[in-house]
Amino acid sequence: MRLCLCIFVAFLLAAQANLRGRAYTLQRSEANRAVRWNKKSIRFALSDSFFVAPNVRADRAEIVRAVRRALARWSAETGLHLGLALSSTQSVSSSASSGDGINLITVADAPENLALFADEGDLAGRTRVFFNPRSGAISEADIALNPNLLFSTDGTPGTFDLEATLTHELGHALGLAHSAVLGSIMRPRLRMNDARESVVDLRQLAEDDRAAARALYRPNAEWGSLMGKLLFADGGPIFGAHIFIEEAATGRVIAGGITREDGSYRIDGLPAGSYNLRIEPMDGPIELGEIARSSYAPNVFRAVASERPIEVAFNSATEFNAKLENVAPKLNPRLLGLTAHLSAVPLSLVPGRTYTVLIGGEGLDEVVAASSDSPYVAVEEVRSQGEVAGLSLLSVSVRVDAAAPVGEYSLRLQTMEGESAWIAGALLVHRPAPIALGAAEIPDATDPIWLD
Ligand SMILES: [Zn+2]
Repeated sequence: MRLCLCIFVAFLLAAQANLRGRAYTLQRSEANRAVRWNKKSIRFALSDSFFVAPNVRADRAEIVRAVRRALARWSAETGLHLGLALSSTQSVSSSASSGDGINLITVADAPENLALFADEGDLAGRTRVFFNPRSGAISEADIALNPNLLFSTDGTPGTFDLEATLTHELGHALGLAHSAVLGSIMRPRLRMNDARESVVDLRQLAEDDRAAARALYRPNAEWGSLMGKLLFADGGPIFGAHIFIEEAATGRVIAGGITREDGSYRIDGLPAGSYNLRIEPMDGPIELGEIARSSYAPNVFRAVASERPIEVAFNSATEFNAKLENVAPKLNPRLLGLTAHLSAVPLSLVPGRTYTVLIGGEGLDEVVAASSDSPYVAVEEVRSQGEVAGLSLLSVSVRVDAAAPVGEYSLRLQTMEGESAWIAGALLVHRPAPIALGAAEIPDATDPIWLD
């Protein structure tokens, strides 16, 4: 199975020696300001290359609908007006320029676009963001889909889903970086459609994506925050730890964040509520190197859970600090799947059904219990399935209650010794829409398509 690693290309920021570990999914400017648009209305230009490209297997109307749905999703969460124009422009702006003022979405095989994929031919898309290195204000964002890969809107095996890819890249265009919550649209990897599973149902924003959008574009006073510092027992900072919170009542993952080099973290845009907090090392399925580029190695520790729920209130920041032992984990689930094809992408599940989930990783032969942290997702029948290619395999039965709220749920494994490990947001519970591909999903049907 081919995996795609999408990389946020932030050229102005690349001048820095180290990127700071990021509060979940956001970019910071040199002056530690959020990288974001400072205006309310942003117009993207859809290159007419989409209508003639041999690698895009969809007609004009389907392509435009897919783009508009992707825009509508982010518009709904950010409150930004995200308009769409058609353009004869083919090429993203050069990194050596200050941009051409056009926020282009292109799939043309122009040299500047092809150069983005020269070293990483498996990437489905890349986004080049121009922003002021001091203020963080974005002035232009150009999205290129890989001219050498196939795209479709109907789940055709061997193609990437146009809409899922664009939704991911638009997140970058708005200032988001990658997330360590597996069910997030901003996870580092997008999966190609295959004959067994289509990713058509993996186009939606996760709760974690929504929190990131709110953190950037909604007034903080309307939401709560979680902040603090993770240290080792000797006082040293823990860099690159993934902190994620689950709604106490449902177990749904609401947001995640990553500790910076000084061990601090901050997660904004949170609904008020009671949350269970978990801290895990970023050693797979999503690894730190996929999110933060830094000369600092991630720290070594075992996953832990907060002893009691954390309360987050509107218009305030809840502080949670912890000291952890510097002990290497023995348990490390890395891959999962509903078939023998294991990968690092979330599993798409429907309420009312039971699934057999295969998990691969290190130390899984020691696992004696598995759970979901949710009253709506029952995990049972833990069975060792031997070892393949140095990974121990495990199968579990996952039953999603018919009343399970839509959202992202984690899988938790435990050993006899008492060590736990989570796969944050691994189970993406959704309800198949009756008109999944129809125009009815577009909230702003009066939004005109300008021609320029
Ligand atoms: Zn990406």
